[in-house]
Amino acid sequence: MSIKFNKPYIVGNELNNISKVIENGHFRGNGEFTKLCQDFFEEKYGFKKCFLTNSCTDALEMSGLLIDVNPGDEVIVPSYGYYSTANAFLLRGAKIIFAESLPNHPNISVQSIEELITPRTKAIIVIHYSGIACEMEKIMDVANKNNIWVIEDAAQAIEAKHNNKYLGTFGHLSTFSFHETKNIHSGEGGMLCINDSSLIENAKFVWEKGTNKLAFENGEIEKYSWKSVGSSYSPNDYTAAFLHSQFLSIDSITNKRKVIWNFYSDHLNQINREKSIIIGNAHSFYIICENEDERNEFQQEMKRKNIEVSIHYQSLHKNDFLDTNTSKCPNAELFSNQLIRLPFHLFLSSEDLTRITEEVKLFFKKK
Ligand SMILES: *Cc1c(COP(=O)(O)O)cnc(C)c1O
Repeated sequence: MSIKFNKPYIVGNELNNISKVIENGHFRGNGEFTKLCQDFFEEKYGFKKCFLTNSCTDALEMSGLLIDVNPGDEVIVPSYGYYSTANAFLLRGAKIIFAESLPNHPNISVQSIEELITPRTKAIIVIHYSGIACEMEKIMDVANKNNIWVIEDAAQAIEAKHNNKYLGTFGHLSTFSFHETKNIHSGEGGMLCINDSSLIENAKFVWEKGTNKLAFENGEIEKYSWKSVGSSYSPNDYTAAFLHSQFLSIDSITNKRKVIWNFYSDHLNQINREKSIIIGNAHSFYIICENEDERNEFQQEMKRKNIEVSIHYQSLHKNDFLDTNTSKCPNAELFSNQLIRLPFHLFLSSEDLTRITEEVKLFFKKK
């Protein structure tokens, strides 16, 4: 039997919720379930205002509009990151400045951020890799001193905390993903979360095609009109219905993921080059190989054993179309070449986990 890298989880109440949308007859955005999802996030995590979006990519693009990124602005993005994290600001004409990872962790290095700040720096985007916190206090200090926006790409970080405070609540804005590869999902989906209240009014317009349609739908005005530049970022309400059923099971989903993470950690930490000691939100478990060849051999060997393992980000500064290949991010490249993730989903049985850890140990012992 082959073991898949990911298998999206189903809580069981999704269809029930979707049939309520059909009964309601409100299929478009900003319906009952959209509001429930946003309220859930605002209440549980303490955001000032949340907007459900079609993806984390959408939420990042909204961020670029809200902080008014313009051509000539520089935006600092971790090289060890996802394409959307950079694209959202490229779309606004920004120059993307790629930052280095820490030597012992894929997260962005504060020292690298400090070295890259110029008078043109408009924003710093951080990614909490696998739900492990970046050094947010230091990052906010550096940003506030230089009057720079901070956006947390918290795509992988739902439920994760840093110094007893939820990730996503440190920066001016944060973005979450509900893609089916994340801990909580709706197939595709995302959330823009606002901590800086000065951005809320405009976010309402940007979310609804640059208009004040939200106020119209809430019965506050008689007709709606054009207020800003915007786009169509709100998902249909049956996506929200699916998602809300997952939200209500968030504690049990996270706890079950932690059991898997702890199993891997207990059985594999002695072979892992970088000891994984921080559980975060148990989004993923990865091994750092000695070099790229070993990583590739490992992937091949696991494939032969019918175990699907997965590499992750390719350093963004090395690409075919931006003139950024001269950036030096050796740590980010190390993680691109040497990091490999083990299967991680809630359909893994204890037999599966034993089989995986035995095969992993065997590979590294043989070497
Ligand atoms: C998954 C992910 C994204 C993209 O999320 P979508 O919802 O698919 O747009 C962006 N950034 C990071 C760090 C991610 O892990």
